[in-house]
Amino acid sequence: MAAKIIDGKAIAARVRERVAADVAQLKAAAGVTPGLATVLVGEDPASAVYVGGKQRACREVGMTALDRRLPTTASHEQVAELLGELNQDVTVSGVLLQLPLPGDLDGAALTGLIDPAKDVDGLTPVNAGLLSLGRPGLRPCTPLGVLELLASVEAKLEGAEAVVVGRSNLFGKPMAQLLLAENATVTVCHSRTRDLAEVCGRADVLIAAVGRARLIERHFVKPEAVVIDVGMNRLTPREAQNKSGLVGDVDFAAVAEVAGAITPVPGGVGPMTIACLLRNTLDAARARAGTGA
Ligand code: NAP
Repeated sequence: MAAKIIDGKAIAARVRERVAADVAQLKAAAGVTPGLATVLVGEDPASAVYVGGKQRACREVGMTALDRRLPTTASHEQVAELLGELNQDVTVSGVLLQLPLPGDLDGAALTGLIDPAKDVDGLTPVNAGLLSLGRPGLRPCTPLGVLELLASVEAKLEGAEAVVVGRSNLFGKPMAQLLLAENATVTVCHSRTRDLAEVCGRADVLIAAVGRARLIERHFVKPEAVVIDVGMNRLTPREAQNKSGLVGDVDFAAVAEVAGAITPVPGGVGPMTIACLLRNTLDAARARAGTGA
């Protein structure tokens, strides 16, 4: 294996330590304790696990964590009312609506009701617009985490060919905009891209966020490219052959033989998402307290 393995767990732990120190400092200097409110609608077990992880992570860095839940039968109006209440709550610095929502609830419309100053997921139209205009605002956590991972291997972004596979509002689009802001030449691929292998083969920095196990094969990757795997795909027990069963969008073993650096799954991008959520919550609390970031 030639590639350097990017240890997202260790890098995320350092971000969390730094956030914990800054939270303590904000408490001491301004008497402000940052607080994150999570909103979980329904009983989806995976979403409950994600919310639990975010709650725990908040407490570990000295923030308050408010766990608000609504039943699967909740109406648009009920979710909207709860978000409105949290927008008004002065003890809440950040509000996170866990997606996807059950039934016919419109996740994008409801997310749009979060006060942009508390939108620590960076997904409201206001924050998406600010990112697109290159103006300050809260940025989505997973793309922020990826930038941090790229910095950890000193990936040169200015003038580099960066290819992002996936164009979701949650990840692909904001990732592309953050890379543009770093002066990379950015190409975004999706399900209609004609020759994915050829386009990926140009990349100095290749980022996959598709949701298809091992889509990115060895021959897609330019030698020495930095490869970031955002995908999280659960294999069936038979496919997993007694291993963890969680794989990314990149064929890790094969690609690691040609890439310069690569993130594993698990232990790569995943841990960075929560770390960046904590940092966004801290930044939102500081902005509210008028102490700057
Ligand atoms: P998404 O909304 O489903 O978007 C998937 C994107 O992949 C779409 O743009 C789609 O193209 C594109 N695509 C699908 N099949 C393709 C193919 N064969 N070739 C090229 N592009 C293809 O997914 P997402 O929310 O961005 O998430 C993507 C993956 O990242 C998932 O596995 C998710 O679990 C993971 N993820 C992980 C984290 C983390 O914290 N680790 C955070 C976010 C997401 P079209 O637009 O044309 O349909």
